[in-house]
Amino acid sequence: MMSVPDYFGCMVFDDRAMRERLPEETYSAMKKTIRDGKRLDIAVANVVAAAMKDWAVENGATHFTHWFQPMTGITAEKHDSFITPTGDGGVLMEFSGKELVRGEPDASSFPSGGLRATFEARGYTAWDPTSPAFIKEQTLCIPTAFCSYGGEALDTKTPLLRSMEAINRQAKRIMKLFGAEGSGVATTVGAEQEYFLIDKALYLKRPDLMFTGRTLFGVKPPKGQEMDDHYFGSIKLRVAAFMKELDAELWKLGVLAKTEHNEVAPGQHELAPIFTTTNIATDHNQLMMDVMQKVAKKHDLICLLHEKPFAGVNGSGKHNNWSISSDGVNLLEPGDTPAENAQFLLFLCAVIKAVDDYQDLLRISVASAGNDHRLGANEAPPAIMSMFLGDELTDILTAIENDAVYGAKEKTLLKVGVHILPRFSKDATDRNRTSPFAFTGNKFEFRMLGSANSIASANIVLNTAIAESLKSYADRLENVDDFEEALHALIKKTIKDHKRIIFNGNGYDDAWINEAQARGLLNLRTTPDCLPCLLSEKNVRLFEDHKVFSRSELEARYEIYLENYCKTVNIEAVTALMMLNKEILPAISAFVRQLTETAAAKTAVLGPACCEYELSTAATLANLCNEIYAGQNELEALLETAHASESKEAEAALFKDRILPLMESVRAKADTAETLTPADRWPYPSYADLLFSVQ
Ligand code: ADP
Ligand code: MG
Repeated sequence: MMSVPDYFGCMVFDDRAMRERLPEETYSAMKKTIRDGKRLDIAVANVVAAAMKDWAVENGATHFTHWFQPMTGITAEKHDSFITPTGDGGVLMEFSGKELVRGEPDASSFPSGGLRATFEARGYTAWDPTSPAFIKEQTLCIPTAFCSYGGEALDTKTPLLRSMEAINRQAKRIMKLFGAEGSGVATTVGAEQEYFLIDKALYLKRPDLMFTGRTLFGVKPPKGQEMDDHYFGSIKLRVAAFMKELDAELWKLGVLAKTEHNEVAPGQHELAPIFTTTNIATDHNQLMMDVMQKVAKKHDLICLLHEKPFAGVNGSGKHNNWSISSDGVNLLEPGDTPAENAQFLLFLCAVIKAVDDYQDLLRISVASAGNDHRLGANEAPPAIMSMFLGDELTDILTAIENDAVYGAKEKTLLKVGVHILPRFSKDATDRNRTSPFAFTGNKFEFRMLGSANSIASANIVLNTAIAESLKSYADRLENVDDFEEALHALIKKTIKDHKRIIFNGNGYDDAWINEAQARGLLNLRTTPDCLPCLLSEKNVRLFEDHKVFSRSELEARYEIYLENYCKTVNIEAVTALMMLNKEILPAISAFVRQLTETAAAKTAVLGPACCEYELSTAATLANLCNEIYAGQNELEALLETAHASESKEAEAALFKDRILPLMESVRAKADTAETLTPADRWPYPSYADLLFSVQ
């Protein structure tokens, strides 16, 4: 058996493969392209393509694809084989530089938000050499950006790369002020992924799970997560076999899968990778979600990535651990010298200012119909943005703000750039599970992301908003006479202006909602509530200034997000109607008939006194049946009204304010009926079956 170091990355055309297979000057040209983002000469691209193809064919690949991330939230690929006819009946395996650097998928069926009318449906994909090519299912996958012919981004990768450039541009100016001229920065991300595993045979009996990813009906099992016995509990054999294979498949793809454990809810698990550059972390998270679902099927399991597959049971999120580093040094790690500490404080302040100024964008970056079920429920962070810094760090900032003495022993005032920060213990900053944005010692953990979200959106906003803070700092600090004085003043001012965003308490507490409101923080509860902020002048200016999105790209995205929301809830409503019509109502009705027939038979023989169970249950169920039927008719009518809406905004509002609540109330009635109906007469596997059957 091969050892892990032997096969790790064996399906990736990584630095090792390039060094081994490319002529020296081609290798240097590639490295330069990766480092500086320079365009690759077509002659060089031809050499790279040939080497890549030989490597891929040796490793069993027959096809290649430009692998990209359109606005559907998942990845897309169109496979072409390497074969070229030789003219004598045979074929050669060929792959050119042109095919490597540029592709032209038919783009008309990907969301474009009106950027690309269908008559000019062509879009193009462009190779992203900063993320290495890999082989998946005998196909050489080339990570690419996806744009319209006019160059507008139609994907999540293009703006992510632009945002990484934006933060690099501004952070370089700051690094220069601290004497590190020429040092670039990279943002790093480790995304912890939560998911559920359920039995495939049971999944296939649930149209709601199949069509919408979540259960639209179902009663909570007698035992949920209240015993806290699942979290970090011993892993069941079938799940362990799945995790083992998942790790191996991810390692082959160069994904640094590190930690596998059970999560809080029954049937819920988590996979955390070791962090890497944001761009690659994003590609890897997409790959991870893809591979998880495929490996699960091999084990007759289904991996659910929906944010809230089961009502009343914890949903799944994704924790985006974010930091920024320069030449391998983490800039969010407090240092040992006054200068390092000052630099740390400045970057920390840049994040504080960014999160406060762009609360709305951060909320939008995690918005989806699925995630609306999580945020604000008592399990995930609320929909209000706030930051957790821990008491020690908050005390330090407060001392700076007030020119006060920090700590009992030191009598001197804490002067940025002059004094060394007191060491604060990492553990103190470690666990506040309720904060949406927590400082965890040397990185920030953004916890509002839903399990199905692409992490690109959140990182685009983080990078750009922090780039803006850094820009304003650099504008202020460049060319001042007394750098230390100006720096101290700037940090002080940031703390004063933005301390409202810092909250170290319990985010699940209702009191926090009132307090947050008093502080003037936004509480954008749902996707339709937050989306309009995307187009506010402040936000358009931010993205345009940093060349991350143009106004028309933002308008397109707004339209796509709104449309996605409406489509998602519409599919849920139609699925619910189908389940009610075809199975739930008939099942209840049939059971009522059985009960009444039994009651009639029993009465004939034993008299009416012995039919209490049958008659009372039949009456309750018959009532529920009527109520459900009325709700179903109302839902049908509302859907028609929604479809006839004069604007997408009106349609989304109807889905949010009328349709979702109605679906909830019909569901509650159907769930009561489920509790009164024998299992073999209920058309769907129960929550108990779904959550506890995988051993
Ligand atoms: P915690 O105990 O706070 O969850 P871990 O060290 O286990 O911290 O890390 C959790 C996640 O954060 C992992 O995916 C890890 O790779 C990632 N991470 C750690 N350091 C950084 C960093 N500097 N930048 C981005 N992510 C990081
Ligand atoms: Mg975590």
